[in-house]
Amino acid sequence: MTSPEQRTLPPMVRIGEIIDKIQGYIQDPDLALIQKAYVFSASAHEGQTRLSGEPYLSHPLSVASILADMRMDEASIAAGLLHDTVEDTKATIPEIKDIFGAEVAHIVDGVTKISKMVFESREEAQAENIRKMIVAMSEDIRVLMVKLADRMHNMRTLEFMKPEKQKVIAQETLDIYAPLANRLGLHLVKVELEDLCFRYLRPDAYKQLMKSVESHATVDQGYIDKVIGLLSEMLQRNKIEGGIVGRRKHYLSIYNKMLQQGLTFDQVYDLIAFRVLVHSLKDCYAVLGLVHATWRPVPGRFKDYISMPKNNMYQSLHTTVVGPDGERIEIQIRTEEMHNLAEFGVAAHWQYKEAKLGMKSKDLEKFSWLRQILDWQKETQDPRDFMSNLRFDLFADEVYVFTPRGDVKELPDGATPVDFAYLIHSQVGDHCSGAKVNGKLVPLSTRLKNGDTVEIITDPSRRPSRDWLKYVKTAKAISRIKHFIRTEERERSIALGKEMLEKEMRKAGLNFQKIMQSGDLDPIAEEHSFKHVEDLLSAVGYSRVTAKKIVHRLKAPEEEARAAEAPPVEEPVKPALSMDKVRIKGVDDVLVRYAQCCDPLPGDPIVGFITRGRGVTVHTADCPNVKNLEPERLIAIAWEGQEDKPYPAKVSIKARNVPGALARIAAILAEQGVNIDSGTFLSNEDRTSDVILTIEVRDSAHLYATIDRISNLDQVLEVSRLSLA
Ligand code: MN
Repeated sequence: MTSPEQRTLPPMVRIGEIIDKIQGYIQDPDLALIQKAYVFSASAHEGQTRLSGEPYLSHPLSVASILADMRMDEASIAAGLLHDTVEDTKATIPEIKDIFGAEVAHIVDGVTKISKMVFESREEAQAENIRKMIVAMSEDIRVLMVKLADRMHNMRTLEFMKPEKQKVIAQETLDIYAPLANRLGLHLVKVELEDLCFRYLRPDAYKQLMKSVESHATVDQGYIDKVIGLLSEMLQRNKIEGGIVGRRKHYLSIYNKMLQQGLTFDQVYDLIAFRVLVHSLKDCYAVLGLVHATWRPVPGRFKDYISMPKNNMYQSLHTTVVGPDGERIEIQIRTEEMHNLAEFGVAAHWQYKEAKLGMKSKDLEKFSWLRQILDWQKETQDPRDFMSNLRFDLFADEVYVFTPRGDVKELPDGATPVDFAYLIHSQVGDHCSGAKVNGKLVPLSTRLKNGDTVEIITDPSRRPSRDWLKYVKTAKAISRIKHFIRTEERERSIALGKEMLEKEMRKAGLNFQKIMQSGDLDPIAEEHSFKHVEDLLSAVGYSRVTAKKIVHRLKAPEEEARAAEAPPVEEPVKPALSMDKVRIKGVDDVLVRYAQCCDPLPGDPIVGFITRGRGVTVHTADCPNVKNLEPERLIAIAWEGQEDKPYPAKVSIKARNVPGALARIAAILAEQGVNIDSGTFLSNEDRTSDVILTIEVRDSAHLYATIDRISNLDQVLEVSRLSLA
């Protein structure tokens, strides 16, 4: 993409401007540190240029300037000036520590480490990197602030990158950095990042929307001035001091609203948000009363974030009213102090404190979200789980509910009593058997609403259920339930493996108990790269290793070894006539039974289900019962002699309308080697969309494995198979 508007570059930021800014909010700042960092950075980057053709130094200067706009301390701004010296020049961390002290060196080191992480690589590596980033952040939040300022300037100058690179960086920014900025309460940063991402990821939609917004009536300056005039008259008449601004909402939020609610541009009313800033809390509510008395409030749109602040400490009153010309307008009312926090987030909070040191872990405790992430990142073993959970948490809206004692708890929108139980304590979650909301017994799948009082009933004999995964919303609940299921599955598969092996040994005249005690299975486990005999038994339970093979190996080790070396003997293909000729990949000679429910016939697409101790049951691939079976026990099977040709299938996916949802689904299809024949995409009013795809799969096991992977995506609510007709 060539740059949409060939613009001339803004003049390079000068160090004097940065110093002026710092003096505006820090009394008696350590300017020597800033000057020194400037000189060091200038000489380190000497001769380097950016893709825009500007001297490289323009970048660290811009980053420092953004940090000064965020009202960060001197160490952060010095680190901003130095942030690329270690990665791109000969400078080293020990050198920076010598000259600038440990604090600055620590921030530069953290930023350098984050910059080296390649987030666009494989999901697992990415998850690991983000995990590291969050740990680095928790040590000193200023690391993230500098990184966000760095990303902000890189996004502002993205037009000079190659188009492929633009998309990758914009997507990463939208997935990771914009939500992090939001979570830290850095509203201005979030909004600017999102609009820049939107511009590069959906250039056509962006241009179109920009045109529509500019020509819309309420965006007309005359209209804005009129409403501001009416509001300030209202304040004056009632002797309330305050200021009012009117601002267009940012493009991505308008666009998302259209997508999520299925609206055309003309149906989006509140393009402008008016903001009333007053001196006191009392005045906030007074202004709200006046606004509601003058203009009719739109039901369901009033939100009191003053008495219930958001997790990122945001406080404000929000209401939407039918304005002077019958248009809907959003009005936000808050004090100047709340406003500073809304715009500058963490930085503002830090500014109110007297300590000159940045935010250390104690301050971070205020950010309970970050603390929760740190908590469960210790528990989550699988980096992919971590990643999908994190994504989920980053994008979720919140609801606030009460404990029976009246404490407020914050949960993501859509959370259930099970999520609440896990939030209280892991043990409460694990043994949660029922719930009362506002005194009434409700199903555990009930969606909690703002202001609900929730009471959990526990039963020590109760265990987490797989069903819970269908509706829980919090990362903590998901990871605990999955952990429990995995442990339980493993125990079951070991028991099943034992049972299968014992039977096979009995047939061969071997004594299972004796062999188990003798340690004869140890070398066999080792040959299969298992650490423990239990792992081998579990593999037998899952039919990954056959009991027969183990018995062979026990009886005739040498023969087995020879057989393993010899090329496999091709079995002659038999006609697919008799009912017992089913070929099962990776498994030979297991007990095969035919499901009564669907009565498969040779030639039907079929799928196998590994039962617990009763061999494999064969179902037709479209048997309705298959959907309810545990996907990890489904295996690929085929009729003897049938070719492996792809067959078409149709799936319906209900996904949340969040950025990247479609891309994730497409990525999984690609990973699974599934062809997409055709697809339709429908946006629903409830912020979900239905994606209907006709795809080509190898067999039904392939289909269900794919469905399973897709339904594990946090953006996906439901996946089902449709009939082809
Ligand atoms: Mn940089």
